[in-house]
Amino acid sequence: MKKYIFVTGGVCSSLGKGIAAASLGSLIELRGLRIRMAKIDPYINVDAGTMSPYQHGEVYVTDDGAETDLDLGNYARFTASPLGRASSITTGQVYQEVIDREREGKYLGRTVQVIPHITDRIKQRIFAVGEHQDVDVTIVEVGGTVGDIESVPFLEAARQMIHELGHQNVMSVHLTLVPEVAGGELKTKPTQHSVKELRAIGIQPDVLLCRAPRALDDDMRRKIALFTNVPFEAVISAYDVDHTIYEIPLIFARQQFDTIVLDRLGLSGGECALDDWEHVVDVMSQRTDPVRIAVVGKYIDLNDSYKSVDEALFHGGIANDRRVELVKVDSETLEDADGGEAVAAIFCDVDGILVPGGFGSRGIEGMVRAARYARTNGVPYFGICLGLQVMVIEYARSVVGYQDANSTEFEPDTAHPVVALLEEQVDVRKYGGTMRLGASESNLLAGSLIRSIYDEPVIMERHRHRYEVSNRYRREIEEAGLMVTGVTPDHSLVESVQWPDHPWGIGVQFHPEFKSKPVEAHPLFAAFVESSIAHARRDASAVRVGAGA
Ligand code: GLN
Repeated sequence: MKKYIFVTGGVCSSLGKGIAAASLGSLIELRGLRIRMAKIDPYINVDAGTMSPYQHGEVYVTDDGAETDLDLGNYARFTASPLGRASSITTGQVYQEVIDREREGKYLGRTVQVIPHITDRIKQRIFAVGEHQDVDVTIVEVGGTVGDIESVPFLEAARQMIHELGHQNVMSVHLTLVPEVAGGELKTKPTQHSVKELRAIGIQPDVLLCRAPRALDDDMRRKIALFTNVPFEAVISAYDVDHTIYEIPLIFARQQFDTIVLDRLGLSGGECALDDWEHVVDVMSQRTDPVRIAVVGKYIDLNDSYKSVDEALFHGGIANDRRVELVKVDSETLEDADGGEAVAAIFCDVDGILVPGGFGSRGIEGMVRAARYARTNGVPYFGICLGLQVMVIEYARSVVGYQDANSTEFEPDTAHPVVALLEEQVDVRKYGGTMRLGASESNLLAGSLIRSIYDEPVIMERHRHRYEVSNRYRREIEEAGLMVTGVTPDHSLVESVQWPDHPWGIGVQFHPEFKSKPVEAHPLFAAFVESSIAHARRDASAVRVGAGA
């Protein structure tokens, strides 16, 4: 019998439900069981593709080209669960599917209602996630907070599943807040209320994950257990971590969360080997001497907008046994910087520079300045998607000599559109101007840096972009020295570039960050951090030589 776990949240949002669900997934996998993870987003948007990173953080892209909530990135980093279109369920999709069926006459004249038609469709979507015969447990995170109007049909579907499949097969994990009030006392009342709310819908939580600034003592756990009907040992203290979210699986394991879940679902598993997580936490807790990497973007204010890039940089550090410290640089401040020295001052104590993906013209000139600084000063530079396009624009301007070179995304009338929509590039009209989404192949050039990093001639990476390096300018730019080191299998599109005579200047049109894991850093991030460490060392010895002279 397949098993299902619903992870809900109470009191308020942003308590880390996604990371809690992903950490549970990791522990269940470490016990030797196979899981699938899915996220329910109760918003009406069909997917996250149209949502602003300012409001909602990064859009996570799957191999099959779904534009999803960033929590899927957490699942990818913590677990081995395959993720795709089916793993992301929104109100918009469910209603669209039901309405389409209604228009096709599939409901045979019946009144189409939230119960049973919407809830049936939700259940079908959940069953589809874990339908593969190998899957033991499907973990479903329900976005939003219990009590929100939007979540009601999803929670009702969860209630029905508990009723229909039985308590031994479906369980409820509820994440709540135990806030600290003035005077330092922790308060259980919001948790009591939130559980009351869940029970009013007909769901009795089996496990409570209590978010608090510090560990709950046993008296407090006993009090919560008493008020909520949850066994004492299943009141788990999800206290704030000191250094990294990757500590959470360890915190949960110490409180036997995995054992409670397995026992509750009648599953047996092997020993839980936590060595990998312990290593990750060890490296990320290092106090001394981090390698400092600048991330130059325009959505810098919101912490989650480059989530996968930030995490992949940490993973690159873990692969090199060094903590990475991120230096977030708003590209617009580079535009305001007066001349090369001011730019140099901003980057004087960073060891590597990364320009991540992005859309729209704001801040682009600052990114071009960052690329120029990195190229001319031998600073390791990693350009991702937009970051590659910026590299091409900068090279065309500074080396080829087209001062006005640009992407038509930022300057539609530029005389030198070195990055453009394919339909604007007369020779490859057939593709049209739609977004390239999801995984596709690239061939890597023998002898290039990227080829040696992947150690494979053909790679599969995910895309999410609309503009391409223009084939009209490709030869000219290559002749000026910029190396095209990766192309699509039909050679029609540029997938990666490399600066000549530079220790580490790589741009990729795809998004390697989506596939990086703390225990298995993406090779490009591992290599980029390695070269940044080497650069820091070179800098340090140059200072020493300078001091001695
Ligand atoms: N805006 C650019 C494009 O659409 C880059 C997109 C990205 O960085 N994801 O091609």
